[in-house]
Amino acid sequence: MSKVRTRYAPSPTGKMHVGNLRSALYEFLIAKHAGGDFMLRIEDTDQERFVEGATDIIYRTLESAGLKHDEGPDKDGGFGPYIQSERMKSGIYMEYARKLVERGEAYYCFCDKERLDSLKTEIVEGKEIMMYDKHCLSLSKEEVEANLASGKPFVIRQNIPNEGTTTFHDELYGDISVENAELDDMVLIKSDGYPTYNFANVVDDHTMNITHVVRGNEYLSSAPKYQRLYDAFGWESPVYIHLPLITDENHKKLSKRSGHASFEDLIVQGFLTDAVVNYIALLGWSPEDNREIFTLDELIEEFDYHRISKSPAVFDIVKLKWMNGEYLKAMDFDRFYEMAEPYLRESLTKDFDLKKIAAMVKTRIEIFPDIADHVDFFEAVPEYDVSMYAHKKMKTTPETSLEVLRELLPILEAQEDYSNDALYETLCRYVADKGCKNGYVMWPIRTAVSGKQMTPGGATEIMEVLGKEESLIRIRAAIAKLEADKGSAL
Ligand code: GLU
Repeated sequence: MSKVRTRYAPSPTGKMHVGNLRSALYEFLIAKHAGGDFMLRIEDTDQERFVEGATDIIYRTLESAGLKHDEGPDKDGGFGPYIQSERMKSGIYMEYARKLVERGEAYYCFCDKERLDSLKTEIVEGKEIMMYDKHCLSLSKEEVEANLASGKPFVIRQNIPNEGTTTFHDELYGDISVENAELDDMVLIKSDGYPTYNFANVVDDHTMNITHVVRGNEYLSSAPKYQRLYDAFGWESPVYIHLPLITDENHKKLSKRSGHASFEDLIVQGFLTDAVVNYIALLGWSPEDNREIFTLDELIEEFDYHRISKSPAVFDIVKLKWMNGEYLKAMDFDRFYEMAEPYLRESLTKDFDLKKIAAMVKTRIEIFPDIADHVDFFEAVPEYDVSMYAHKKMKTTPETSLEVLRELLPILEAQEDYSNDALYETLCRYVADKGCKNGYVMWPIRTAVSGKQMTPGGATEIMEVLGKEESLIRIRAAIAKLEADKGSAL
């Protein structure tokens, strides 16, 4: 068997979509799993769709996702050039198109815009589709030559018979047959001399020895035409894997409007590259067991493309958040702190020990922007209602809380050591003396110093960060608040 060679072949038309990254990832995994080569080819023959800077986004994304290519525009592997506009300069596409013309599998077409506009169109899936009527197929050799000699603009079209069927094979969908009459004589070479994507991908995949092609299933309907090109040249076609659609939670095609359709958007929103890559791997593929967390190396080991599913994959942001949280929990603390620090600084202006706060939130957040909600109370106690002191399970009420806080205030005023351990010991001693449950004391204290139902750490951890002075200010304020409430209830 020949060496597995896959390619990611993006058109530089903008941001890198989740679907694009999935194709790249699967191509990468198929190659690496088999010890093969992963290649990057830039498909820039559609000059109208070209977006400045889009190629840089592709390089940046592949690099940060860890999808190192073995060959590409910046890494010659003997199959270059790797950019289609550069490949074109050698005349390769024209040369192959002419071969097809010689074999009767393609023909020159000189129809002008006016004539093409007058042809019948059909509406297929909401799009207007024009079926070319083979008008120029009937031109004699002499007429064609005369037209060419006079410099008349032309395109070269694929000649697809009106009878018969064409069958191609996809790894997921099996054999698919279509009536030739349904296939349009698509343009192979445009009037500007550039090949269409439809033609260039076939010529390039063959001449670059590509063995497996992974792409979105929007290309499924064109695949029979590609198959006819392979057959016309007498080439073996690569293994085709057309991936299922990625939808949003409402089962609609994932669109820009959903806000998380592009890789860069997700990173800006605070997701980790590793988590995004891991999550995207599971958009259409699953391992034999139900395992979900994989490093890239583990994916390489496990990835079997036969296990890719045909059903649409739902992009579930809740699941991605969960996964991101798992990555944060597992992350080395120093790296976590480095990444969390800007978010902490944005929320906290006072002079706190940010490392301690980071350690508290590490296991509780799912993405970095969650930090703000978890730490806001360090800056100032939010408005809260005294009813927060009532906790059924802890058996507390505003009254019991007031009593506990009043009793604890002098003890905490006398306490010098405001480390978590020392404070915890003090509170436990008080609990033991009182003969009550832990929560009966911890709940009111934590409420007093945070004003929140949920905090990233326990009462004493919070007090350690706040320090003695601020902790006491908050406890005194809580006593006053509870007293005022009691007064107003009378
Ligand atoms: N240039 C095409 C795109 O960006 C590639 C499709 C394919 O992988 O063949 O959609």
